[in-house]
Amino acid sequence: MTAAVLAVQGAFAEHEQKLDELGINHIELRERADLDRDFDALILPGGESTVQGKLLRELGMFDALKDRIQHGLPVLATCAGMILLAESIENDDRQYFATLPVTVRRNAYGRQLGSFFTEAEYDGLGKVPQTYIRAPFVTNVSDGVEVLSEVDGHITAVRYKNQTALAFHPELSGDLRIYRDFLRQGQDS
Ligand code: GLN
Repeated sequence: MTAAVLAVQGAFAEHEQKLDELGINHIELRERADLDRDFDALILPGGESTVQGKLLRELGMFDALKDRIQHGLPVLATCAGMILLAESIENDDRQYFATLPVTVRRNAYGRQLGSFFTEAEYDGLGKVPQTYIRAPFVTNVSDGVEVLSEVDGHITAVRYKNQTALAFHPELSGDLRIYRDFLRQGQDS
């Protein structure tokens, strides 16, 4: 299988390193033409959702990627990626792919708790290390959305059909279980 990593802005290199550790072939999506290459799974990295959303539109990648996500391409979205997928952003009028029926709050932990590390239960995996950097959390989920992880009563990881969205950064820990779990989907699809 081949995983594509959105590489227009943010922490894409760290995801690629994890894919290397797992021996998974991967490509970078930097421009419209990259979407014509074969890939079976997509990673949307952390970074700045406003910048990523703007670049996706300017580069002419937005509609084609949205279409592939809607048609079942397995997606692992982290932090800003979660914001790109969310149907609604509570404290921002902007909307991006809007393929994931949840509401998120951007920069939900405020300034003081902008960044922190914790370990929390993750559905089916037990405790996993979780690094948060100016992260969102989920404030509302529609029917059919599975909650995978919660920290201090806030939902921080969800799955809906082919879309897995994490408020934290698995690429910054040494733990590969979330990737393995996700890539299994790409291999089956
Ligand atoms: N605060 C960023 C945003 O709103 C997300 C931060 C991150 O991806 N680490 O897009």
